[in-house]
Amino acid sequence: MIDWQAVSEEALGYFKDLLRFETVNPPGNERPAAEYLARVLAREGIEARLIESEPGRASLVARLKGSGGKGPLLLNGHLDVVPVDRDQWLHDPFAAEEAEGCIWGRGAIDMKNMVAMALMTMLLLKRTGARLDRDLIFAAVADEEAGSTKGALHLVEKHPELVRCEYVLNEVGGYTLHAGSARLYPIQVSEKGICWFELVAEGEPGHGSMPHPNNAVVKLAKAVVALGSTKMPLHVTPVVENFLRTMAAHAPPPQRQLLPLLLQPRLAGHLLSLVERQDPARAMALNAMLRNTTSPTMLEAGRKVNVIPSTARAQVDGRTIPGQSVEDFLREVQQVIGRVWKINVLTQHDGTVFPSTTPLYEAICRGIERHDPGSLPVPYMIPGFTDSFAYGKLGAICYGFSPVRLGPDLQFTQMYHGHNERIPVDGFRWGTRVFFEVVRDFLAGGAS
Ligand SMILES: [Zn+2]
Repeated sequence: MIDWQAVSEEALGYFKDLLRFETVNPPGNERPAAEYLARVLAREGIEARLIESEPGRASLVARLKGSGGKGPLLLNGHLDVVPVDRDQWLHDPFAAEEAEGCIWGRGAIDMKNMVAMALMTMLLLKRTGARLDRDLIFAAVADEEAGSTKGALHLVEKHPELVRCEYVLNEVGGYTLHAGSARLYPIQVSEKGICWFELVAEGEPGHGSMPHPNNAVVKLAKAVVALGSTKMPLHVTPVVENFLRTMAAHAPPPQRQLLPLLLQPRLAGHLLSLVERQDPARAMALNAMLRNTTSPTMLEAGRKVNVIPSTARAQVDGRTIPGQSVEDFLREVQQVIGRVWKINVLTQHDGTVFPSTTPLYEAICRGIERHDPGSLPVPYMIPGFTDSFAYGKLGAICYGFSPVRLGPDLQFTQMYHGHNERIPVDGFRWGTRVFFEVVRDFLAGGAS
């Protein structure tokens, strides 16, 4: 029998230690945190490898051997965190202080909590000598917050033998979402893709004292306004449709009646404008689920205030619905800004959808239902991307499942990259146990 009071206390200790490493990316500097994990694993006879993509940017990979009959399960956690606005924090973001029933710190939700849970799971499986029907890999990686190139993507491209697997458990899913009186647990099975591109406007150079109509800056500005204010066509995927219908079924009126209307092309735009007026954050999230989007983020033009430059450039963060190709997306962009534009694609990867009918998905559902009876796990899509896209390149099925039980007063999405990031101590303890049991059940061949 596992003494869960003692185990969750131990996991909390690792978690707090991890929060105290300042792994703000940039520069990341994940090496000390990765070395810490390696020391904890080594104490119990688990060997780990540190892979550095460049000095200081270390990722850790460790493995528990199974009987080898089936493809490995990989537990992924990134060690880097986003920057903090110290003035806005009520507690030191790198001291792991406990207050108001929560542990406060940058990375408390995103995602040192899950790194600690995965570490604890490795240790417990080793200690209990559990029989594993497949290998369990633990990857604690650098650089997710800057696009994964120096972390998960580096492992996938340079050391695929270390991380090749059949399944991945990763971040952004498994938290409590209160919908009316129901408790949903979104399990991430799908991520949007990216198409980051540059627009180049060309015009006539000239003197600023004599305005002319062929000004590259003005042309670019018009395109940027159009991209920033036009809603592109609706593309409803089955995952999103099911998620919205489930939300609606548990929502009080009038949301119950209104939410499904978002799925109808003729009504969606109008309805979204209504939501926007009442709850802008919600409208933003819904909008991102339903269509390809563009956010202009960088501008560059001119060197002197009195010279009209001949070129002007904008970089745009484009996000694509799974199933939409780059060509589909760029066609929609051209419908917004016209065909005359020179568009340079800078970085691109497609969105992903994984099946929610696998033994691992079922193990996740069983684990949640066992520890929060009456709640409802539901597959969903995130508008961003995680390290999962990297493992997806190796053919892995990836889920976002970083369980934490939250009360109705704490909104997961506001914690994420927000000021005062924190996690309820009870919710962390709960998640540690659920996470371990899901992994153990799955590696024992599924207790179905
Ligand atoms: Zn994250």
